[in-house]
Amino acid sequence: MTIDVEADIAGGIESYSDGFRPVIDQQVACNIDGHSEGLGFIIRTLRERGLRATFFVEAAQANYFGPAAMGRYVDLLLSAAQDVQLHVHPCWFSYHNGVPDLQQLPGDSCAALAEPVLEDFFARSIATFRDWTGGQPLAVRTGSFRTGRNVYRVMKRLGIPLSSNLCIGLSEPAEPDYRLPGGCRLIEGVREYPLTSFLDRRGLGSARFRPLQVRSCSSLEMIAILDGAQAAGYETVVILTHPFEFVKSATEKNRNAWTHEMLITNRTVRARLRRLCDYLVKHEERFEVCTFADLASRPPTSVRPVRPLHGSPVLSWLRTLENGFSDRVKWL
Ligand SMILES: [Zn+2]
Repeated sequence: MTIDVEADIAGGIESYSDGFRPVIDQQVACNIDGHSEGLGFIIRTLRERGLRATFFVEAAQANYFGPAAMGRYVDLLLSAAQDVQLHVHPCWFSYHNGVPDLQQLPGDSCAALAEPVLEDFFARSIATFRDWTGGQPLAVRTGSFRTGRNVYRVMKRLGIPLSSNLCIGLSEPAEPDYRLPGGCRLIEGVREYPLTSFLDRRGLGSARFRPLQVRSCSSLEMIAILDGAQAAGYETVVILTHPFEFVKSATEKNRNAWTHEMLITNRTVRARLRRLCDYLVKHEERFEVCTFADLASRPPTSVRPVRPLHGSPVLSWLRTLENGFSDRVKWL
């Protein structure tokens, strides 16, 4: 299970002159009445069930917020014995010490950066990570799952052995051999574990890859994919969520993620994580919940390609209804 912990750049440097400012606490803690219903909810849910997950913590945002803003969330995660690894969105290098740096507009795709630039960004992000944790990251996830051969070459040079940079349900890689629905693949000497995506078909339309993400899939759907993956011989399944998936804006006009002030809990998505965790605990003889640090300490069990899994059309319709109700009904 992986959780991306990140700030929101609020539209990028172009929106800065319009008065938009990046936000971090609303995206990570998601406090409601002084209680963390984002990161705090995830940590509590895992702790109550004795589970550990990997939190990919975005480090490049320190160019805007400084290292301490995210550092205290890293402290929380480490004291909860969770696994912390590195997430990098290069767009944050548009800022230098909190102010826009118009000399440097790298965009947000690691795949699009020249290797020396990417290596410099990664080295600076690793330095922030070391300040937070006292150690080197064992795994990286690039921002928005945008990756290319350059990323793996840089990772190899910097000594990072594992990644989860690919997700065909969210971002199509340029290299045809990177279009992987899951499993494990050795790329340029780096062990890549793509976020699991499955073929989702509703009605007569063509099937599309959908990421195994808590906000995007019902608990029944996630459980069906877990069972299907096991039956199909998958040795790993990677699931995604973010702290902000567990809250929503209380008012229509405040739906903009950069300005939401009135947060309420998202009961639908909270229930999904709880049910998923309960299922994994109940079937611990069939599923092992492990972290990227755990994977790094083991030899790769299999780097064979896996076949795409197919979602159930009935569950797909039910989830569309569930998501529709959750988006429209405040208390769901
Ligand atoms: Zn991200």
